[in-house]
Amino acid sequence: MNTPSATWQQALADAFDSVADLCAYLQLSPADLNLPEHASAFPLRVPRDFAARMQAGNPDDPLLRQVLPDLAELNDYPGYNDDPVGDLQAVAQTGVIHKYHGRILLIATGACAVHCRYCFRRNFPYAELQLSGQKVDSAVAYVEQRQEISEVILSGGDPLLLSDTKLEQLMRRFAEISHIKRIRIHTRTPVVLPQRITGELLKAFSKLSAQLVMVLHANHAQELSDSVKHICSELRHCGVTLLNQSVLLKGINDDGERLCELSERLFSFNILPYYLHLLDRASGVGHFEVSEAKARALHQHLQRHLPGYLVPKLVMEQAGAAYKIPIC
Ligand SMILES: *Cc1c(COP(=O)(O)O)cnc(C)c1O
Ligand code: SF4
Repeated sequence: MNTPSATWQQALADAFDSVADLCAYLQLSPADLNLPEHASAFPLRVPRDFAARMQAGNPDDPLLRQVLPDLAELNDYPGYNDDPVGDLQAVAQTGVIHKYHGRILLIATGACAVHCRYCFRRNFPYAELQLSGQKVDSAVAYVEQRQEISEVILSGGDPLLLSDTKLEQLMRRFAEISHIKRIRIHTRTPVVLPQRITGELLKAFSKLSAQLVMVLHANHAQELSDSVKHICSELRHCGVTLLNQSVLLKGINDDGERLCELSERLFSFNILPYYLHLLDRASGVGHFEVSEAKARALHQHLQRHLPGYLVPKLVMEQAGAAYKIPIC
């Protein structure tokens, strides 16, 4: 039986960190899975609340497939590398990625509430590049010196793994800069660890002087449980604009009907679909790739079946480009 954890920190500490435990919980035999022989340097991490949304006994469960290490991660795919989107060449200073006009992205932390096998930053040198201590002062100075920056994006890793105090301070320091209109948070935590959205955090959000946008990350309707719906409505009540980005993943959501379902369910949670990303070519993720031709066909399916505002933009990230490139 699952006893609910008392705090989000406890829920995070209770997350599955062993393939054997997760398999036992889901009544799966490791022999039925394509597991690597040795533990990966990017270990398993799955909050129990998220694991509870997986179907027991199903090795192909679309949520399980996103988090379970696979032998195929060791395959070499041409064109796949450790910095697929040119983040490193866009590092303005420690913790600050300035790639696009008018907005900067901060590497607020390297930690995440879940480890997604397809993650494009799975090989990112967080230890060297995350924002901490005095680096925050120089990031603030960087933004103060540039009038054209109107939006600060907290990313990572996952910024919601910072303590309330750290997160609140970070948001406030940037929100207080006169030319900053919006603080944006890129996070998968509300979806995988809804306990993180505490009353305290909501209070911190409502006090912020800038507008707050939260870009969530769900790839499949099955991820959107009632507990997620509840915290989304609380976030909406605090005036947070909720958007979602997904990654197109082979065998997980590369299906027109599944993607329609995802958009519909997102909207019923007050979340608008924002981006549908082609996979970024990070080493170890090649087995998740969906071809551009198939992606286009899927996007057309969405356009044929959904109102325009429920069709996410299909995009790919290109090193050195001025924006995420639309595919259509
Ligand atoms: C994706 C991304 C952004 C935000 O781009 P939008 O198109 O505004 O969502 C900003 N900076 C970096 C480095 C990014 O990767
Ligand atoms: S939550 Fe986001 S940054 Fe973290 S592992 Fe998943 S995709 Fe990567």
